[in-house]
Amino acid sequence: MRTGLSEDLIARVLGGLPKYTIAELEKKFPPRNLPDGAMVTRFAPSPTGFMHIGNLYGALIDYKLAQQSNGVFMLRIEDTDTKREVAGAVDVVKNAMHRFGLEYNNDEKYGPYYQSQRKEIYRSVAAELLRSGRAYPCFLTAEDMERIRGEQSSAGFATGIYGEFARDRDIAAEDIIRHLDNGDVPSIRLYSTGDPARRIFCKDAVRGSIGFPENNEDLVLIKSNDGLPTYHFAHLVDDHFMRTTHVVRGEEWLPSLPLHYQLFRMMGWQPPVYIHTATLDKIDGDTGKQRKMSKRKDPECNVAFFLNEGWPVGAVIEYLGNILASGYEEAKLKGAVKNFWEYEMKPKKIPMSGALFDMKKLEWWAKEYIGSMAVSDLVKSVTDWANEYGDDKQKMQVADQNYLTAVLAIERDNPKRVRKDFITWKQTLEIVEFFWDDLFVPNAEYKYNADVLNAFLDTFNIADDKDTWWNKIVEIAQRFGVKNGDVAMNLRVALSGRTNTPDLYSIIQVMGADRVIKRIKAAK
Ligand code: GLU
Repeated sequence: MRTGLSEDLIARVLGGLPKYTIAELEKKFPPRNLPDGAMVTRFAPSPTGFMHIGNLYGALIDYKLAQQSNGVFMLRIEDTDTKREVAGAVDVVKNAMHRFGLEYNNDEKYGPYYQSQRKEIYRSVAAELLRSGRAYPCFLTAEDMERIRGEQSSAGFATGIYGEFARDRDIAAEDIIRHLDNGDVPSIRLYSTGDPARRIFCKDAVRGSIGFPENNEDLVLIKSNDGLPTYHFAHLVDDHFMRTTHVVRGEEWLPSLPLHYQLFRMMGWQPPVYIHTATLDKIDGDTGKQRKMSKRKDPECNVAFFLNEGWPVGAVIEYLGNILASGYEEAKLKGAVKNFWEYEMKPKKIPMSGALFDMKKLEWWAKEYIGSMAVSDLVKSVTDWANEYGDDKQKMQVADQNYLTAVLAIERDNPKRVRKDFITWKQTLEIVEFFWDDLFVPNAEYKYNADVLNAFLDTFNIADDKDTWWNKIVEIAQRFGVKNGDVAMNLRVALSGRTNTPDLYSIIQVMGADRVIKRIKAAK
């Protein structure tokens, strides 16, 4: 520890008097009154205007841990990087959370939840560190730091502000005053007492105990340009005073873990349980090999992609749930649980590396998911999607809700044999396009048997039940010496333009007599 700063100097260095003492903060944000084992988690995105599928994956873990333990799940906006601010970026996050059903519970008592609004809290904790000599004002300029970095690199030393390179770590009061009088604005740095020759053991709920060299860098806690905290300091202060019990974050933060332990220990606070998640991989379409997802190459990196393309959000959640809880799929197939919310996930089982997000696998989950939906829910989902994201054609398809319901109800009455070809709301509307005259594309290649079609028209009665209808087809087949299937295929192609459709009788019933007759006449 170094000599602490006087109250006057603290106020000058921090650009104002601290509002609270640590004791006051402890009282203002008391430990939460929750049942034993309740987990308090938070999703803490930096609002960049882009929500990565990996963010959604992390947020799902947060949400799930809180949900299954009767805890609390918060959304904290980490908007301390004023250079990277993007208008509307918070709405992107909030909208995604809402769409994917990850509702958060930001109890006002522990707020505010925008870091940019928590300056008083950070300043108060920083004041305590300056007072006790565990932090100091540093007046190194960007040029100074660049020079130091250059010197370190050429001498083969680790780069950073530490030890002898931390010029201001023992700066005297009169030098601080001289700088301040000169109009220089300091950053606040940790006065690190760590020694890399010693090891610090940190815990990760997935990886267990991990030994790291102690941190000796005097890292910035409060930045000079805007008086806002760095990630490290905000993490310490916010997760302590928001009473977070479990911190779920990307594995890129793993190397910072010794620093975070150091900070919590320095304050005498209990560090949270950490869960570092693996970056999601995919199977590369060209090479067939597993690789990291890339924001530039892979549209499915962006959560907005799933909303725009009409993927059932419930299926995306189910699939992500299966990635993070490897036993889930099996439990579901066995019928032990109905959905991911009923399954109890174990932090220990979250994948440490190589978590694969495979669109082909997602398709399977989507087919199963849609297959288990009630028709009315399917119609509503497709309609909501078309009205929000669809083009004129898709909006037209959902305009007549009765017709759409009849179309989508085909092959859904027998729960054991529900059609499984719908994957997304968009693709569902594409598959059934032929039901609308404006979208129907007649099949110009197919060689129709005009006799068969004429014979069908002669005896066609929309009121026939399925057996009567089929008997007529059998009769026509016999009359012309063709197979039953040939007759059906002639009708199928004439009505849909396709050689592969769901149940033909149902199609005829849904289309109605006029449309059926018109299309068959046009086909001959
Ligand atoms: N804002 C940080 C990030 O987006 C949050 C990490 C954390 O959850 O602590 O990486």
